[in-house]
This record gives sequence, C-alpha cells and structure tokens, in this order.
Amino acid sequence: MSVTAVKSTVLDVDWSTQTVLPIEFRGREIQLEARAYQGCDPTYQALVLINRPKPGEDVKIPVVRVHSGCVTGDIFHSLRCDCYQQLQAALETIVDTPNGVLIYLPYHEGRGIGLVNKIRAYALQDKGLDTVDANVEIGEPIDAREYDLTAAILFDLGFNEIRLLTNNPAKVEALRQEGITVAEQIPVVTEPSIYNQRYLETKRVRMAHKL
Ligand SMILES: [Zn+2]
Repeated sequence: MSVTAVKSTVLDVDWSTQTVLPIEFRGREIQLEARAYQGCDPTYQALVLINRPKPGEDVKIPVVRVHSGCVTGDIFHSLRCDCYQQLQAALETIVDTPNGVLIYLPYHEGRGIGLVNKIRAYALQDKGLDTVDANVEIGEPIDAREYDLTAAILFDLGFNEIRLLTNNPAKVEALRQEGITVAEQIPVVTEPSIYNQRYLETKRVRMAHKL
C-alpha cells in the first residue's frame, strides 16, 4: 500500500493531538511527549509516547515499540502472557533512548480479536488447546492485527526508518509492507513463568517468534 493510500483510508480526519505526559518509571519521573491518534474507524486509535532528545543529545534512528494493548497483562500483570514484561522492557529502552517511541494500540487486544474473544480463547486453553488452536476453535484469526495506522503515525512523525523492539518477525514484515524501513529488529527479552511457558512455546514454534 502506498503512503497516499494509507493516509486516504486511515487518516483523513482531524485525528491527532498532543501534550506532555510525566510518567513514573521504576522510581524516576520522566517527561514524555504524548500524542493521541484516531482514524475514520473508531477502532483506529493509538497513544504514542515519545522520548524527545534533549539539547546536545545524539539522535540515531528512532527505537520503536509497537505494543498491542492487553488489559489482563498491561494493567493487571497477568502471568498468562508476557505483555506486561515486554512493555516494561520496551519502556526501559525507550526512556533511555533519544527518539524512543512507544505506539500503544488498545484495539489490538488479544492479537486483534478483542477482549471477550480473548477470554473465550483462554477458557479453551484451560481445556488443553494452545493459543493458535483456541483461536481457530472460536472461528477467529490467529492474528487479526493490522499495521496501516501504525505506519501512518510513523510517517506523520517523520520516522520512516526505525529500529523495532519486537520478537515477532510478522510485525517487522507487516511494517515493511506498509513502506516503513525497519533497519534493525531488537529482541525484547523476558523471563518465562510457569503460567506462560506454553504460550511462549506456541509463539516460538507456531508463530516463528525469536524467543
Ligand atoms: Zn497479554
């Protein structure tokens, strides 16, 4: 899809606003530029946090985390997935990197199938299915996430070339398809728990994640 096509289908409205957001991160107060984006479809929403370079700081290619929202993981620190640990690990890099960027996509919940379907899939996993087979069983795609909004945001920020914090090669490929140059894939290292071992194993074996 060309840049023009992305902009015309995703972002043809007055769709962004910004402020400064001070956050507490591991005992430090950090000032981040915060932007909210919305496209024509209300599910096309994103919160973007940017660690802008301070005067005199060396600016390299932006380091970007494109994080799929996960209510159970990000907010309640669920141990069934590694979303919270990945978010924390990504933030650690972002707050120490000039032009570190977090793009947070709330509607990517459950790899894009939504909260209710995610919990439905969890119930099937309780009966022995893995994450891939559970999604198939409830008639949902294994991964329903789209990255056209993310690409449009990166173009808007002037970040056409990025270093991407991810273990997921499909995410790298999807952004490249949208016209973003992914100069480097930086792995996000997390510690497995007894609850998410199978989830992580399925990501590695069936979804080619580099874990
Ligand atoms: Zn999660």
